[in-house]
Amino acid sequence: MENEQTKKRMEELTWKFPHAYAKTDDDELDRISAFAGDYKTFLNQTKTEREFVQFAVSACKEAGYVPFDPESILKPGDRIFFVNRDKALILATIGTDPVEDGIRMTVSHVDSPRLDLKPFPLFEKSDVAYLKTHYYGGIRKYQWVTVPLALHGVVARKDGSVINVCIGENPEDPVLYITDLLPHLGAEQNEKKLKDGIKGEELNAIAATTPFDADSDEKNMIKLKFLDLINRRYNLTEKDFLTAELTLVPAYQARDVGLDQALVGAYGQDDRVCAYASLRAELEKEKPVKTTVTVFADKEEIGSYGNTGMNSDFTLHFIQDLCRATGAEINRTLRNTYALSTDVGAAYDPNYPSVFDEQNSCHINKGCVLTKYTGARGKSGSNDASAETLAVVTRIFDDANVLWQTGEIGAVDAGGGGTVALFVAHADINVVDLGVPILSMHSPFELASKADLYNLYKAVKAFYQ
Ligand code: MN
Ligand code: MN
Repeated sequence: MENEQTKKRMEELTWKFPHAYAKTDDDELDRISAFAGDYKTFLNQTKTEREFVQFAVSACKEAGYVPFDPESILKPGDRIFFVNRDKALILATIGTDPVEDGIRMTVSHVDSPRLDLKPFPLFEKSDVAYLKTHYYGGIRKYQWVTVPLALHGVVARKDGSVINVCIGENPEDPVLYITDLLPHLGAEQNEKKLKDGIKGEELNAIAATTPFDADSDEKNMIKLKFLDLINRRYNLTEKDFLTAELTLVPAYQARDVGLDQALVGAYGQDDRVCAYASLRAELEKEKPVKTTVTVFADKEEIGSYGNTGMNSDFTLHFIQDLCRATGAEINRTLRNTYALSTDVGAAYDPNYPSVFDEQNSCHINKGCVLTKYTGARGKSGSNDASAETLAVVTRIFDDANVLWQTGEIGAVDAGGGGTVALFVAHADINVVDLGVPILSMHSPFELASKADLYNLYKAVKAFYQ
């Protein structure tokens, strides 16, 4: 056969995902870079779900969104928001099509793995005051030692007032820190399995090291020093910690990674990378045909339990109220609704090829990633989206020149995981996972590609328009 003919047949019959920078002009590269710049600023301000909700509420108010009154009557073009207990948020814009014809919805999560303080955290040992922690979400404990940590959270007072705590984000602020052994004395620790190298009960952060009164014979003078300092700053006593919600997160700022500056390195990109893309798409869309509902959920990293997580009915209740306010029938609305469960994917890591199926993994710089199923073993615990649902969303993406790829979480039986898609599906909604490939997921400093982020934003924007 002629060489040309073979080449033609190859092009017609085979498929290969292109690189994100192929056929990308300078204008598009500028847009990718500018979007990533805004994203980094956002990341530095939103390290907890509560901080995300504060950020997004002020952004949506500026864009004309008003608090949702379930007793109101909504008309096309109306923009509303609903805050769930300061830890989850729903934005919606009413479209010109009847709501019953289906909503366009995205769900991302705004909590990230971290080290929560235990309820009774403070203790002193050998002249050091420590804070005890209990990790939140799936972490590899050895990654969280020798990392500068910032203290974030709230203390809710009996009188109903809430004190916001944040120590370690200003460059002048001190940080907290968990020590590790020096290599010279690490021989015994080195013999342990990686998972046992650092134990959960060893994740104690240094809080202070000098006494309140060096001349006193009283015990726990260093603990008292810490309490004195935090009392001066936030008017807290040790008893306030018992009912507080305080957490340690990496004090790192978001940075570009690689000399080509194509990647963003930062804490909490799972899943703020998707939350940011869908927030921008929701805020920026012009009067949509379909009604859009953009959900930012809490608690995903611990199984979506709790009344701010997707296993709660808060989103269903919101859609019920939305249907009432627009005169739509709820069951028909749900059945006709399409949702993107926007959560991150496990990027193929060339450094650790054995746990991936390279051709079925998502790759950095190849666009946003569509994941038909997650789960473990035989797809257990997965939503497993239908071929028809995949066809509907990929047609929208292709029409808008969105660069998308497919991905699964890793090689068969190498492990597994899940997202909120199954909870969305539980409400009788068509749903598929869409996200951004992440390297070093759940570590204190995760990596994502600027081009992949931008293509996710384009995808959600097209889905909403
Ligand atoms: Mn996630
Ligand atoms: Mn996660």
